[in-house]
Amino acid sequence: MSIHDVSPAFAEPIDRLADMLGDILGGPRFAMLVVPDHWGAAPLDRAPAFARRLRRWADAGVEMFLHGWFHRDTTDHQSTAAMMKSRYMTAGEGEFLGLGADEAEYRMRRGRDVVETAIGGPVAGFIAPAWLYGAGARAALKACDFALAEDHFRVWRPATDQIVARGPVVTWASRSTARTASSLAVAAAARALPDWLPTLRIAVHPGDVTKESLMTSIERTVRSLSARRAVGRYADLLPGGAAAAYEGSAS
Ligand SMILES: [Zn+2]
Repeated sequence: MSIHDVSPAFAEPIDRLADMLGDILGGPRFAMLVVPDHWGAAPLDRAPAFARRLRRWADAGVEMFLHGWFHRDTTDHQSTAAMMKSRYMTAGEGEFLGLGADEAEYRMRRGRDVVETAIGGPVAGFIAPAWLYGAGARAALKACDFALAEDHFRVWRPATDQIVARGPVVTWASRSTARTASSLAVAAAARALPDWLPTLRIAVHPGDVTKESLMTSIERTVRSLSARRAVGRYADLLPGGAAAAYEGSAS
């Protein structure tokens, strides 16, 4: 379970989402995806009050991921396919889709420094904006040695390319009425999924707080799924984590 686009630009919506998830789950059992400088207008290293808040969440057990640098896609895409993918899947938020390896690595290292300085500890991994990775971003992930990464369909360890979890992400869209309606339908379908299905991930965004219909759906979905399923942490997916211990005891 994760809150995306955590940035001083969205301090109030993030507070509201964190309070809601924490209340339902009985504690901060979720991840935050932190953007070091959202759209070049919200630098975390110049927002000390928000950085202190982040550190309190991290100290309380919230897993902190680096989530791009600007979040917005600022590259000129070389290939039409990449451009179409970026434009239609994300409205231009796929920052790491078109980056070369050097630039991707530079932004990852710098971003990690900014987030780790704020939280006073290591990040849990890197998750690209809009879950979109180009070849450069994939190479840079390995070079930077992040423990975990994820896309729409899986969570993997960049060092070994080992896939540690598979399953869809349930997420909500606030951008247009049509997208909002379809995301409400998807969430309702997810609530009705049989419990034997493997991992489901849930992702919420600051924009979700702008529509009460979305907040109601998020609350119902998180309540329903967390009542019937174990709520995992990303760290459980690493060697020595709870999932590994469980598999070990089962075999
Ligand atoms: Zn994002």
